[in-house]
Amino acid sequence: MRTHARAVVVGGGAVGVSTLYHLARKGWSDVVLIERAELTAGSTWHAAGLLPLFNMSYTVGQLHKYSVDLYKRLPAETGQDVSFRVTGNLRLATCPERMDEYRKYCGTANTIGVPFRIITPGEVKELWPLIELGGNESTAAIIGALYHPDDGHIAPADLTMALRKGARSGGAEIYEHTEMTALERTASGEWRVRTSQGDILAEHVVFATGNYARQTGRMVGLEIPSIPVEHQYIVYDVCPELERYRRGGGRELAVLRESDQSYYLREERMGWILGPYERGAPARFADGVPDWFGKSLFEGDLERLLPHVEAAQRRVPSLEHCGIKDIINGPIAYTPDGSPLIGPAWNVRNLWLNEGHSFGITAAGGAGWQLAEWIVEGEPGIDMLAVDPRRFGAYAGRGYLIAKNEETYRNVFTIHFPDEERPAARPAKTSPVYDKLSRLGAVWGQRYGWERANWFAPAGVERSDRWSFRRTNYFEHVGNEVRLMRERVGIMDLTPFTKHEAIGPGAEGWLNGLVANKVPVQPGRIALCHALTPRGGIRSEFTITRLASERFYVVSAGAAERYDSDYLRKSLPTDGSVLLSNVTGARGCFVVAGPHSRAVLAKLTSAPLENAGFPWLTGRAIEVGLATDVYALRVNFVGALGWELHFPIEYAHHLLDALFAAGAEFGVGMVGMRAMESMRMEKSYRMWGTDLTRDYSPFEAGLDRFVRLEKASFIGKAALAEQRARGVPHRFATIEVHGVIDADPLGNEPLFAPGGPMVGRTTSGYYGHALRKSLAIGYVKPELAQVGTQLEVEILGERKRATVLPDSPYDPENRELRA
Ligand SMILES: Cc1cc2nc3c(=O)[nH]c(=O)nc-3n(C[C@H](O)[C@H](O)[C@H](O)COP(=O)(O)OP(=O)(O)OC[C@H]3O[C@@H](n4cnc5c(N)ncnc54)[C@H](O)[C@@H]3O)c2cc1C
Repeated sequence: MRTHARAVVVGGGAVGVSTLYHLARKGWSDVVLIERAELTAGSTWHAAGLLPLFNMSYTVGQLHKYSVDLYKRLPAETGQDVSFRVTGNLRLATCPERMDEYRKYCGTANTIGVPFRIITPGEVKELWPLIELGGNESTAAIIGALYHPDDGHIAPADLTMALRKGARSGGAEIYEHTEMTALERTASGEWRVRTSQGDILAEHVVFATGNYARQTGRMVGLEIPSIPVEHQYIVYDVCPELERYRRGGGRELAVLRESDQSYYLREERMGWILGPYERGAPARFADGVPDWFGKSLFEGDLERLLPHVEAAQRRVPSLEHCGIKDIINGPIAYTPDGSPLIGPAWNVRNLWLNEGHSFGITAAGGAGWQLAEWIVEGEPGIDMLAVDPRRFGAYAGRGYLIAKNEETYRNVFTIHFPDEERPAARPAKTSPVYDKLSRLGAVWGQRYGWERANWFAPAGVERSDRWSFRRTNYFEHVGNEVRLMRERVGIMDLTPFTKHEAIGPGAEGWLNGLVANKVPVQPGRIALCHALTPRGGIRSEFTITRLASERFYVVSAGAAERYDSDYLRKSLPTDGSVLLSNVTGARGCFVVAGPHSRAVLAKLTSAPLENAGFPWLTGRAIEVGLATDVYALRVNFVGALGWELHFPIEYAHHLLDALFAAGAEFGVGMVGMRAMESMRMEKSYRMWGTDLTRDYSPFEAGLDRFVRLEKASFIGKAALAEQRARGVPHRFATIEVHGVIDADPLGNEPLFAPGGPMVGRTTSGYYGHALRKSLAIGYVKPELAQVGTQLEVEILGERKRATVLPDSPYDPENRELRA
C-alpha cells in the first residue's frame, strides 16, 4: 500500500469512486481510495438505480444532468457496461398544484438544458399502456404529466466498476478491506490517515462514507449533518400482463412516478420494483453504524408500504397479479433539506465532504465532477451553495437531524411550493422577542434554524400560509406591510444576521485583501463589500462598518453564518494581528425604517439623527432608550430612510417595547420577510445566494461601484481585470413582467428574446407592492440589458411579455433613504 498520496478518498460507494475518477481525470494520478469492506458495500449495492433528472434546485439539476450525460459515455470510455436503460421518466399529476410544480420545474430545466415534455393524459396512456387513467371514486384522474425522455435506470454496481476502471486508468489506486480508523494532522500540516492496513500521509482527504458520515466526522470533531433514514422498495415476481406487453413488442416502460401517492414503479425482469416514500420511516444510526451492520438490511415493514401498494395497484391494476419476491429496506443518507453535502469541511483545511447523498447514484457523477474541480482548482465550476456543507450550522445537532431528515424523507414527493415552511424541529432558534411577535400575529418561517416572521396576520385573519405557486392568502397583508414601511414606519426583526467583529492592527489590511471594495477608512463609515472567488465570482457579501480605527463590524446573511465564519477564520493572518469573533448570538438586530423612522428614534436617543450628524452609510454606537452600546447603522435592505439597530441581545424586549411606544403616534407596526422581499426587488437590491453567486462577477451583477481595481490586491482582482478587458458574458437586469394575473415570477425562470431563443434567466422575482408591478431580476446577454429592451419570461409554462427597467425602479435617486 502507498504511504503517501496527494488525496485520499475514504469510502468506496458510487460517490467516492466518482470522486476518485474525477480527481484522476483532472490529472491527479497520485490519489487513492480506501474502502473498509468491498466497493459498493454501503448503500450503493442495494440502490434501485433510478436516475431522475427532475430536481427543483438549479445546482442539483446541473449535477444530475452531468451524471446522466457521463453515464451514457462511460461504457465507450472504459469498456465497462453500466446497464443504463434509457427508459424515460414519467411523473403523473392529479391536481392543478402538481401541474404548477412541474411547470415551475420546466423553467429551471430550460435554463439548465434538460429536455422534457409536458404531456396530456392521452399521451400518458400511449407511453404507458398498462396504466389506469382514473377519474373514478377510487383513483384520481390523471390531468397531465411531466416526461423526461433522456433518463432511466442504471445498475449501481456496474456504474461503480466503470468509474473504478476509469480512475485506475488515470493512475488512481483502490484499497479494499482498508478502514480509516483515525485522522490526524501532522506537525507539517499534512493529514495522517490511519487505516487498518497502515498509515497514509496525504495533502487532501475526502469523506465519502455514506451512512457512516457521523462517525467519520467525529474523528476530526465534526458533527456532519447527515443521518440515514430507512428506505424500502418491493421487488415483484414476473407480471403476466407486463410480460405479454413486452413479448408483444412493447418497449420498456418509462419509470413511473405517481407523485401524489408518493411512489415510483419501474420494470425489473418482467416484474416490477415499487418504491414508496412512506410516512413513519425512522431515522437510523444517529450515533453511527454499528459494526455488525456491514452489508445487512433492515427487516421490511409491509404495513408502512401498504397504502402505496394499494395506490399503485389502483393505478396499474396488473400489479395485483404478481407476487412479492423481496422487500429491500436499507439505510439511505439524508440531510435536513434532502440535498447532499459537497464541498469543504468547516474549521479544518484540506478536508472535503461528499456525504449525505439520498440520490447518490444519480448525483455521484456530478458530485465527483464538481468536488474534484474544487479540490484541484481551488473552486468549483458552478455555484454550489445549495449543496455546500456549510449551509448548515451547529444547530443541526442530533435531535434536529432526526426530526428534519424524517420529515424530508416523507416529503420527497409532496409538492415543493416556493413558500413552503415545514414544521419539524421548530421552533429551534428564536429571537428573544419571539413570543411578542407571535402575539402581534407573526406567521413564522425558518431559515438556518432561526424562526423569522414571514408576515404578520392582522387580528381576525387566518394565521397560516396557504402555499401556492401563485398569489395566495397573504398577498394583501404583505402589501399592507410594504405600504406601512414606504409611507409610515415599520420594524423588522433581523436578529439572525451573521455578525462578526474583527479587531487589531492587521484588520484593515486583511479585510482589504478579501473584498473587492475598499473597506471604510474613516471610523463611522460603512461600505458594502464583496468577497470574490479567484475566478471573480461573488462568494460573500459583507456590510462592513468601521467602528474605530482598528475595529470593524462585519454583517452578512443569516444563512451564511458557518459559510462566512469558516472563510473568514481560515483566511486570517497567522501573525495574530487580527482578533475575529462571531457575535451573531450576542447581538440582536431591529430595522426601523420608513419616513417617520427618524422621528421615532429621536424620541429614544440623544444622538443627532439629521443628515448632518448621521448621514446615510454611517454607523456608530449610541444609546437607544435604556439600551447602551447599540450599533446604529444607517443602511437597510428595503431602500427607506432608516437604521439597523444592532443591540446587545439582552435589550431586545426593552428596545421593541420602546420603539412601539415611541412609534405609536406614527402607526408603527411589524414588517416581515416577504414584504422585505417585495421592497428589495423594487430597489433592485441583489440578494446574496440567489442573485449574487459565484456564477456571476460583480461586473455582471452591475456592482461596478463596489469594485476598486486600483487597490493593490484582493482575491479575484486578476480575473476581474481580465473580464473588464474582455467584456462581460451577462448583465444584470431588473425586469417588469406584463399581464400577470396571479403568478408572479419567483426566480429561475428562463428569459427569451420575443418569440426567439433563450437569452438569460431570472434569479429572483416578486410583486412590487409599492410600484404595483410584477418584478424579476436576473441576467441576460449584455446587449439585452438596456432599459426598454423587450423580453419574454416563462412563468408556469406561459410566456409573458417583459421590459427591462432602470436599476432601482422605486426611488431611483435614493431620495427616501437619504432624506
Ligand atoms: C433502498 C434504497 C434504494 C435506493 N435507490 C436509489 C435510486 O434508485 N437512485 C439513486 O440515485 N439513489 C438511490 N438510493 C440512494 C443511494 O443508494 C445512495 O445515495 C448512494 O448509494 C450513496 O453512495 P455513497 O457512495 O455516498 O455511499 P455508500 O454507497 O454507502 O458508500 C460509502 C462507503 O464508505 C465505506 N466506509 C465508511 N466508513 C469507512 C471508513 N472509515 N473507512 C473506509 N471506508 C468506509 C462504506 O463501507 C461504504 O462502502 C437508494 C438507497 C436505498 C437505501
